[in-house]
Amino acid sequence: MNQMYINGKFTSGQATESMDIINPATEEILDAVPRGTAADTLAAIAAAKAAFPGWRDVPGAEKAALLHEAAARIRAHEAELIRLLTLEEGKPLVENEEELLWTHNTLDYYAELGRHDRGRVIPPGAAGQFNFIIKEPYGVVGCIVPWNYPLLLLAWKLAPALATGNTVIIKPSEYTPLTTLRLIEIAFQDFPPGVVNVVTGYGPETGEILVKHPDVAMIAFTGSLATGQRIASLAAPMMKKLHLELGGKDAMVIAPDAPLDVAVRALAYSSLLNTGQVCTSTERVYVHESRYAQFSEELADFVSTLRLGNGLDEQTDIGPMLRNPFREKVEAHLADALHRGARILTGGQRPGELTRGFFLQPAVLVGVDHAMQIMREETFGPVIPLMPYKDFDEAIRLANDSPFGLGATLMSHDARLVKQFFEGVQAGTIWINDPLTDNYAGPFGGMKMSGGSRELGQEGLDEFTQAKHVHWDVEGGLKDYWYPYGG
Ligand code: NAD
Repeated sequence: MNQMYINGKFTSGQATESMDIINPATEEILDAVPRGTAADTLAAIAAAKAAFPGWRDVPGAEKAALLHEAAARIRAHEAELIRLLTLEEGKPLVENEEELLWTHNTLDYYAELGRHDRGRVIPPGAAGQFNFIIKEPYGVVGCIVPWNYPLLLLAWKLAPALATGNTVIIKPSEYTPLTTLRLIEIAFQDFPPGVVNVVTGYGPETGEILVKHPDVAMIAFTGSLATGQRIASLAAPMMKKLHLELGGKDAMVIAPDAPLDVAVRALAYSSLLNTGQVCTSTERVYVHESRYAQFSEELADFVSTLRLGNGLDEQTDIGPMLRNPFREKVEAHLADALHRGARILTGGQRPGELTRGFFLQPAVLVGVDHAMQIMREETFGPVIPLMPYKDFDEAIRLANDSPFGLGATLMSHDARLVKQFFEGVQAGTIWINDPLTDNYAGPFGGMKMSGGSRELGQEGLDEFTQAKHVHWDVEGGLKDYWYPYGG
């Protein structure tokens, strides 16, 4: 069995039980990890707290060298990690190649950005003063990570947290801890003991201890809205710093001028990547009424050609969903939509030929409206619901008619529409003609109930520091604005 990583050592800690990790394409048990306990989490907190002062003071160039070395070791073990990701999470190898690229590049990116500056000097607030701002680390940061991009979403937290001098406790998803543990074994054992720790286990048994403990100064969380709300309510009495990346219900708008062949391919990719299990999956589509019928037909034809299968097979376009309850949620959304009058053009069934694994044929759905669950709640599966609109104002109103605001895409070459879209749509990321791309140098995050935090870019580094403003009167003489006022 695998072990946790606490204070520079692999250990089973106080765990007396294990958790099986299942391959979603075959339903076979891949491996097991310890079911971490409160005592294990407390041991990791103590280790991270003890390591913090030393790590904070490590010079920037040395921190950067360690992060670059970690990135190089990950690159050297890329093929193994890509395969292990496909085994435990299910997405095709080609998508995990992308995830690995993002993981080690993020470490390299923040290695450099983190050593670039530590604050700024500003003009004096009074004669004789020297004023400067220091960006300080928070201390111990709990990184709570979901299963859909286990390494990438970890790197987006781990790299900026470490580069700015925080120490870290990682709580991987109970479904996908294997790649995280292997990543640490490969790349992080040269960091001083206690700087990076991993506690495996269930959220309520390990993650919640991190959220509630006074020695954990910050929680960096990516996951569902419901868990984010739970974490926010637990952290509120302590006013703990929260960095929350939550769910989404991203819209795509297809303008009248959009080339339909390009829009079909762009939409299929942005809805079905990782079997629709991406926080920024396109889950609502608005097509101009003049193109709606033709577009729906062309999309359904294309989607029905995509190949379902084990992600290890290079011919596979769409892998399994992670677990049966997630598939059942998608099926429930489809059933609700059909009950209310929607129509499936293709997909929505479990494929007869794949008897093992949590597969679902990707579905294209027409006749939907905003009363249906499928247009309101996060579905997180391979479903593309299409709705017509009359004019562009209506398209923007529909795109904004959601409690979420993570991302949104417009397919158009009309500059007036593009401007109206990026100014009018409430979302943290706007894509024009090329959905779901990322850029290390720019921030990623949500608006509204998707959480207001940002990862990547300078913004993603600043999330892990708190500003301290120093007002230093170098001469230190008496001031005429002090008491007594009467002179
Ligand atoms: P989840 O909320 O069920 O779990 C996320 C993590 O939180 C896991 O490690 C889990 O063990 C832990 N956890 C669960 N309960 C906890 C508790 N009470 N206290 C502390 N930790 C707890 O989410 P998931 O199913 O793993 O991931 C899918 C969700 O993540 C989707 O909603 C998706 O939109 C979202 N997501 C968001 C982003 C983003 O950047 N905004 C990116 C990827 C995924």
